[in-house]
Amino acid sequence: MTAIAVLGSTNMDLVAYVPKAPRLGETVTGRDFRTVPGGKGANQAVAAARAGASVTMIGAVGTDEFGTRLRAALRTAGVGTEGLRTVEGASGTAHITVDDEGGNSIIVIPGANARVTGLEPGDEQRIAAARALLLQLEVPMDAVLAGARAAREHGVRTVLTPAPAQPLPPELLAVTDLLVPNEHEAAALTGLTDPRQAAEALLQQVPEVVVTLGAAGALYAARGAREPLTVPAPPVRAVDTTAAGDTFAGALATALGEGRPVPQALEWASAAAALSVLRPGAQDSMPVRAQIDAFLAERSGA
Ligand code: ADP
Repeated sequence: MTAIAVLGSTNMDLVAYVPKAPRLGETVTGRDFRTVPGGKGANQAVAAARAGASVTMIGAVGTDEFGTRLRAALRTAGVGTEGLRTVEGASGTAHITVDDEGGNSIIVIPGANARVTGLEPGDEQRIAAARALLLQLEVPMDAVLAGARAAREHGVRTVLTPAPAQPLPPELLAVTDLLVPNEHEAAALTGLTDPRQAAEALLQQVPEVVVTLGAAGALYAARGAREPLTVPAPPVRAVDTTAAGDTFAGALATALGEGRPVPQALEWASAAAALSVLRPGAQDSMPVRAQIDAFLAERSGA
């Protein structure tokens, strides 16, 4: 079993389903309300665990009841939570309004995630014991940097999802092995809307890049390689693409950690992400390893 460490956010998603989102000052009656565990860090941790990795999560939850549920959700998924602190106050929350047309608006309140400002005792060992460290940008940059530096020091591959999009400090790029932006993040980072051009520009700063392109698949580029590799997404009937990117990152890190060649790892991650869009939800929709293998076997007619 390949070991993966994740340093990142845990959020409780509070989702209100409404016919039409309220305007300022307006009150509307909604149809439904759900609370679902999320946060990009926790999502990637669950994705990797379902994909068959032994995963440890570094981050923080609050002392509220959401904190208890967020920790329990990770444990249920088989994620180690020894590195998940409980800090006084509120857990991270995402307040999401989804209207009948599928449009959404989101308020994220970082809560406990804002208190993840660096590594705590034991974290360096957790990172050193892993094949890869998965990072995103929903916890303070200082912690992301400290994690990435520790990983680099111990020869652990760093995989960074640069979301939410923001300028990346050169010190972070210097210790990033694989950058996995979606096409919007790639454009925000480079000012280039063509994913191929954006990937090439990013290769000046990191050795490997995967730009995810939604239903159009993904583009992989590496320093020194002649041509970028295009990875088609399996055609599926998408129901909800929430956390597709997190599923992709978790499965990709797992496959690479197992030593699979890059093209095969990308195909496997694409299958995992495609399966995740077939069902509503974030963590709930992520496939387990056997489902990913079966999906690929079926597609290749084996
Ligand atoms: P994010 O969720 O971060 O915005 P993307 O939308 O690019 O990222 O999706 C990540 C990956 O998930 C894609 O590269 C693709 O493999 C898969 N994916 C996303 N949407 C679909 C879809 N409609 N059909 C099949 N695969 C999809």
